[in-house]
Amino acid sequence: MRRPILAANWKMNLGRADEALEFVRRIRFPLSEIEGADRVVCPPFTVLAAVAEGLAPTPIAVGAQNMHFEDKGAHTGEISAAMLAGLCRYVILGHSERRAAGGALETDAAIQRKVKTALARDLTPIVCVGENLAQMEAGETHAWVSGQITSAFEGLSAVQVARCVIAYEPIWAIGTGRAATPVDANRVIALSIRASLAEGFGEEVAQAVRVQYGGSVTVDNIADFMAMPDIDGALVGGASLKPDYVDLVRRAVEAAGSH
Ligand code: PEP
Repeated sequence: MRRPILAANWKMNLGRADEALEFVRRIRFPLSEIEGADRVVCPPFTVLAAVAEGLAPTPIAVGAQNMHFEDKGAHTGEISAAMLAGLCRYVILGHSERRAAGGALETDAAIQRKVKTALARDLTPIVCVGENLAQMEAGETHAWVSGQITSAFEGLSAVQVARCVIAYEPIWAIGTGRAATPVDANRVIALSIRASLAEGFGEEVAQAVRVQYGGSVTVDNIADFMAMPDIDGALVGGASLKPDYVDLVRRAVEAAGSH
């Protein structure tokens, strides 16, 4: 039985301490009371410490939205796993909005290094994978997503892989209001993600890793995703900035408990 995990990706929003803390104060008590799922909030770096402090007395965990694969050095503007350790428990890696921006820090090889570094610092990576619209329309989703999975976890032990969380986020569904159908998302997670994990690390690991769906998740569609057998939660962008995010998490937990 995999424990559901709901992660809020604030992206480049609520980055001032006053606005971030006001929002945290609104959601922290009702969100704390929803048991039966891990709850993670991933704010911008500028308010990571403040949000972590605001959530410290609660079971809600904090995550970063990215990190560098080196521990320290001449990397102006970058944040390392060593800096995040002790401040937060999770880190989103390889989000498609970052991969799309390109550059040497978001290649498959760089993301593989980030996953290793994060684990070495006891951070739980939320590794994002997903195809773009052209790939989906060309029927290339399986090859692309399984390739991203193989690359991200190459060189890790089965135990290390089992500690990771994966977010399947079709790029065409992120921020567009056009979510994947739950059946399609479940199929990619089962046949492209878990099957690749099984091939590389064994069936036990493939069944142990928690896989989220992400892409236009809302309070109205979350239950349908959570009812799917291979979907263990969601990475939520836009809908995580609204006070009814608490209802979204509540519905997710209820739906997960029903299968
Ligand atoms: C995301 O930020 O990863 C995401 C899925 O965004 P949205 O929920 O807004 O589509």
